[in-house]
Amino acid sequence: MGNLEIYGLLLTAISAGWLLGKLGNRSNKQTGDGLGSIFHDYFVGLNYLLNDEPDEAIDTFIKALEINSETVETHLALGALLRRRGKVDKAIKVHQTLLARPGLEADMADAARIQLAQDYITGGLLDRAERLLKELMQENSVAKWEALQLLITIYQTEKEWESAVACTQELLSNARYKKDSDWNARAAHYCCEIAEQFIDKEENGKARDSIKRAFGFRRHSVRAAVLLARIEQRLGNFKAANREYLRIMQQNPAFVPQILKAMRKSFAAIDKLPDFKHSLSDHVSNHFDPVALNMLVQLITESDGSEAAIRFLRMKIASEPSVTAATQLLKLEAGLQEEAQATDLERIHQMLENMLKKRAGYQCNQCGYESKNLYWLCPSCHTWDSIEPNYKNGI
Ligand SMILES: [Zn+2]
Repeated sequence: MGNLEIYGLLLTAISAGWLLGKLGNRSNKQTGDGLGSIFHDYFVGLNYLLNDEPDEAIDTFIKALEINSETVETHLALGALLRRRGKVDKAIKVHQTLLARPGLEADMADAARIQLAQDYITGGLLDRAERLLKELMQENSVAKWEALQLLITIYQTEKEWESAVACTQELLSNARYKKDSDWNARAAHYCCEIAEQFIDKEENGKARDSIKRAFGFRRHSVRAAVLLARIEQRLGNFKAANREYLRIMQQNPAFVPQILKAMRKSFAAIDKLPDFKHSLSDHVSNHFDPVALNMLVQLITESDGSEAAIRFLRMKIASEPSVTAATQLLKLEAGLQEEAQATDLERIHQMLENMLKKRAGYQCNQCGYESKNLYWLCPSCHTWDSIEPNYKNGI
């Protein structure tokens, strides 16, 4: 059991104690039926908790709270805590018991239903959660906007992108969320997901429409720009594709490794490789990008020969030393040496190359998840746009 959870439970216990104390004061003026037993259960629960026996502590607290009709908020706090600890069944029980209580005030009932929906989501009972949340939406309750956000999460998990876009659009119709950059970014990603499905089916017109919708939510969506470039290239509109690629290079240099291969092909298709080389050279002098550096060296070797590439690398290493540049240099030098020396250099080059291949190119800025590939949605913490290149200068 983590320290934070222990503190959470303690907080619940303290708030329950405070409420019980309040009740105790009140009951002194009245009679006090059953309060002795609540106090008893409460202190037994607290004792379990202090002895680090949380399961027994939780059961005892539930028992103590069920007797009392004025502890709705404590119920909600305890239910949420149980869910976070992975005890979804118990959380559902707490929230259902609460909802079954006669005379529960409407806003408290809505809060309990939101919590119950979250229990269902955590427990993977998405259909039940969806039904409950749709009910809340139809009743136009104050919890509607919270319900809408949970519904979007469900549609995202289920990959029901059209429903996800529709719900996000509704959320963004509320002035409170309209300018929220996270929700707008999410809507743009949902449109891009739809666009990717159309691209897979070769329905380029529909894909383009979805990309336009994505730009409507986020004008500088890099993912939408990458997809648009891909479609234009596929349709043979190389000039339009190249324009998009150059825009990505300018506005989102971190994503350049994602587009380089396709970009090279698109420029080559209309004999514009020198222009590509020029832009790539600018990019490499302004950003540490091992993938782009490797491609530039390859282009220089192809157009001007290995000696020109070696000269370029020597200059590059002098101004910005890096293992990537040194590895490339070794490879080119090996090609110019006598056999024995070449074999040595080639071996060292291979060792360095293998070492570089092992590095993770991307990392989530929220949870630290490392990956060789770019994900728009972190597979670990499910945050959009949190995965970034983590190439370190010098490597
Ligand atoms: Zn993450």
